[in-house]
Amino acid sequence: MERSESSSTLGYESVKQKGLRFLLNSPVARAGLLLLGWVAVWFIGGLVEYTHHASVWFPPAGLTFAVLFVVGLRAIPVLMVASILVTMLTSSDYQIQLQNMEVLEGGVLFGIAHIMPYYAGSTLLRWLTQTKQLTLPLCIISFLLIAASSAAITTILVLNSLIFTDMMSANDFTATWLPFWIGDMAGIIVLSPLFFSFMHLLYPDKHFKILEHIEGQIPTPSPQYKYKVLLSLTLVMIAMLLAKFSQSMDSSFAIFFLVLPHMWIACTENAFFNILSLALSSLLVVFLVDVLELMDFVMVYQYAINVVATNAMFAIAIPALTAHNHQLKTKVFTDSLTKTASREYLIQQGRIELRQAQLKHQDFCMLVYDIDHFKKINDLHGHDIGDHALITLSHVVKQLLRPADLLGRYGGDEFVVLLPATNEHTAVTVANRLLEHINNIQLINGERLSVSVGITQMKQDDDFESLFKRADKALYEAKRSGRNCIFQH
Ligand code: GH3
Ligand code: MG
Repeated sequence: MERSESSSTLGYESVKQKGLRFLLNSPVARAGLLLLGWVAVWFIGGLVEYTHHASVWFPPAGLTFAVLFVVGLRAIPVLMVASILVTMLTSSDYQIQLQNMEVLEGGVLFGIAHIMPYYAGSTLLRWLTQTKQLTLPLCIISFLLIAASSAAITTILVLNSLIFTDMMSANDFTATWLPFWIGDMAGIIVLSPLFFSFMHLLYPDKHFKILEHIEGQIPTPSPQYKYKVLLSLTLVMIAMLLAKFSQSMDSSFAIFFLVLPHMWIACTENAFFNILSLALSSLLVVFLVDVLELMDFVMVYQYAINVVATNAMFAIAIPALTAHNHQLKTKVFTDSLTKTASREYLIQQGRIELRQAQLKHQDFCMLVYDIDHFKKINDLHGHDIGDHALITLSHVVKQLLRPADLLGRYGGDEFVVLLPATNEHTAVTVANRLLEHINNIQLINGERLSVSVGITQMKQDDDFESLFKRADKALYEAKRSGRNCIFQH
C-alpha cells in the first residue's frame, strides 16, 4: 500500500518535472505562456479601469517592460500579437463600430506605441546596469527615471494612436493622459521587478546584475514577514474604509501611511519579499478602489502606490548594504589565516575591556606568546607547514580559553590573549596549561611546537599600549631565558 502511494507520488513528480523542463526548453511553449500571461494581467488591469483606456494601474506595462528587459527583441512578436488581441477585445467591449481591418490596424498601432518606448527604456536600463556596472542605488534611480519617462512616451503615443484610429475621441485626451501615465508607471515600478524574478525562472540562462539584487537565491523571508504583510494589508483596509465612510478627500490621504510598514519590510527583508509585499498591497488598493467605489479619490491612490513603491525600491539597497557591511566587518576583525581576532579588533576590544576592568576595579591580565624558532620551521618544511602550525596552534589555544577571553593575532607568529577578571596567579596557571598543550602539537617528523609567554597584570593607570609593552618585554625575557617558558612583568 505504502509502496504504491510513493510510486504514484514519484510518477506525479516526474510528470511535473517533465512539464517544467518542456516549458523551460521549448521556445513555442514559452511564447504561449507569455501570451497567456500578458492577456491575463491585462484582464487584471481591466478590472480596475476607471475611465476608458485608463486603469488605476496597468500591470501589462510592468510585464512588457520585464519581458523586454530579459528577452529583448525576440519578445516583440508575442507582445504584438497580445496587443492586437486585446485591441480586438477592447473594441468589442467598448462597442466601437470599426471594421475588422481597422481594428487590426488599431492593434498594430497600439502595439508599436506600447512596445517601442518600453523596448527603448528596458534596453537602456540593461545597458546601464550591465555595461556601466552601476551601483545598486544608481541602478534603482535609473530604473525609476526610465519607468517614468518611458511610461510618459507610451502615454502620448498610445493615446494619439487611439485617436488616430478613431478608438478614442480627441476631446478625451486631457482627461486621460495623467491617469494613463501614472497607471502605466505604477505597473512598471510595482510589478516589473516581480516579473523580472518570474521571467528569470523561464530564462535561467540569462544573467543580469540587477536581478542578483532582486532575485538572488530567493532565500526564505524572516519569520515575522507574514505579520508585516498582514499589517500593511490591514492598514490599506482601514485607510480605505475610512475614505469610504467619511467620503472626504482628506481622509483618503491616510493611505500614504502605507509607506511605514513598507519601509519596515524593505529595510528588514530581502528584495524579492519586499517587491512581493508591494505587489500585494497595491493589488488590494486597486481592488478596494473598485469594490468600495472610491473612484472619486482614485488619483490619490494611484499616487500613493507610486510613492510607497518608489520609497520601498530605494530601501532595497539598505539590507544589501547592511549585509555587505557585516561581511566587511567580519573580514576586518578576523585574521584570515588563524580565524582569531585581528590586530585591529584586538586593540579596539582590548581598550574597551581594559577601561571596564579599571572602572569596576577588576583584575585583568594580558598574555603575549610567540612561537619559538618559527623561521626554522618555515625554512625546513616550507611555508605551508608553517601556516598549518599557526592554524593548529590557534585552534588548540582557543579550546583552552573561556568564552570571555579574547585571542588575537598581533602579527606574524605573535599572539595576544586578554583575560578579563583574572589575576596574575591564575594567568600563570592558564599560561602553563597553554605551554603544556602546545608542546603536544606535533609537526612533521615528530617535531614539537613551543612558544614563549610574557604575562602582565593590569594597573589602574594602564592603557592598552603600556600593558602590551610590559607583556612584550616579559616575552622578550622569556625568549632570553631559553624559550618554551613563561616570564612575568
Ligand atoms: P623566536 O624564537 O626568536 O621567535 O624565533 P623566530 O624564528 O620565531 O623569529 P620571529 O618570531 O622573529 O620570526 C617570525 C617568523 O614567522 C618570520 C616569518 O617568516 C614567519 N611568519 C610570519 N607570518 C607568517 C605566516 O602567516 N605564515 C608563515 N608560514 N610564516 C609566517
Ligand atoms: Mg617567533
